[in-house]
Amino acid sequence: MNQHRLYTPGPTPVPDRVLKKMSEQILYHRGQEFREIFARVNENLKYLFRTGQPVLTLACSGTGGMEATFVNLFLPGDKIISVNGGKFGERWVAMPRTLGLNVAEIKLKWGEAPSKEQIVSALKENPEVKAVYLTHCETSTGTATDVKRLAKVIRENSDALICVDGISAVGGIEFHFDEWGVDACVTASQKGLMTPPGLAFIALSSRAIERLQSSALPRYYFDLTKALTAFMKNDSPWTPAISLVTALDEALIMIREEGIENVWERHSRLAGAVRSGIKDLGLKILSDHPSDTVTAVLLPSGIEWARFSDILTNKYRCVVGKGQGEYIGKLFRIGHIGYYHDAGIKTLMSCLEKTLIECGIRL
Ligand code: PMP
Repeated sequence: MNQHRLYTPGPTPVPDRVLKKMSEQILYHRGQEFREIFARVNENLKYLFRTGQPVLTLACSGTGGMEATFVNLFLPGDKIISVNGGKFGERWVAMPRTLGLNVAEIKLKWGEAPSKEQIVSALKENPEVKAVYLTHCETSTGTATDVKRLAKVIRENSDALICVDGISAVGGIEFHFDEWGVDACVTASQKGLMTPPGLAFIALSSRAIERLQSSALPRYYFDLTKALTAFMKNDSPWTPAISLVTALDEALIMIREEGIENVWERHSRLAGAVRSGIKDLGLKILSDHPSDTVTAVLLPSGIEWARFSDILTNKYRCVVGKGQGEYIGKLFRIGHIGYYHDAGIKTLMSCLEKTLIECGIRL
């Protein structure tokens, strides 16, 4: 038996209902049947993001969605503020620099969340900034940013666009695109959306849509004006990832059946169970603002990641994420975003306990 249970912060387990859709015969993407599916997906994505604005679907992973925001919203040399609290924040500093933007970085210690004061002082030092980039959940550290609070602070102090990497947050942590005044938010299929990797989604405010007209960085496949024009007709400019879209349709129907508030509540309850289980095992979590979607746990001294992961994966069939960047070999990350329930979390906790004992820890 090779069956593993994924407890990684992406990709995440895919429900059987969604998997079945992946095995259906391919539809013609310009035909009526697919158009109807895409129309429903577009409506349900708005429900997920809590918005009346367009949510565009692109055939790429989340990083592609983020690149699309950088190349569609700015002019060469425009300045943006980017919060860097881990591996993904690092990427949102390096990528826009590569693309010709000027980046003011708010660098945090891994495990820290950005504060109101840090945002206000960066905005004061850089009054000309065109956007502030926040990461709702920094997956490398399991840290949540208070997007609601910081979006308000940004809007009170500046005209900058508010752009959010919601890749490991949307569908797991409470998020209101319209109400919180966010201008661009990106997520991907393989986490809260319970679908295999390969799709990215971008919600755009009216302010962001206006910027699309005046932006001037090179792009073709990722030209969001093309995606938006097609979106208005429930179409896409290129061949869409048809099987992923039909699978996503089913996953979004599941989210609607459960109700988004109940989905957030389930994530919060399971995250609480993970954190208290970790504490009961005598382990420590890295973050001072833990996310309800990912928990980064420090490996106790004397435990080698390779041995720990070998036992947990090959004997107990549970796969957790490894440490990244400066925390390689020093922590493990438990994903609990998407298709998780109490039984799965209890199973993981009991397998973790046995693994730690077999690694020689006295609990
Ligand atoms: N941002 C965050 C917060 C993520 O968790 C990830 C994926 N782990 C990414 C960006 C990159 O997304 P992808 O791997 O889908 O390109």
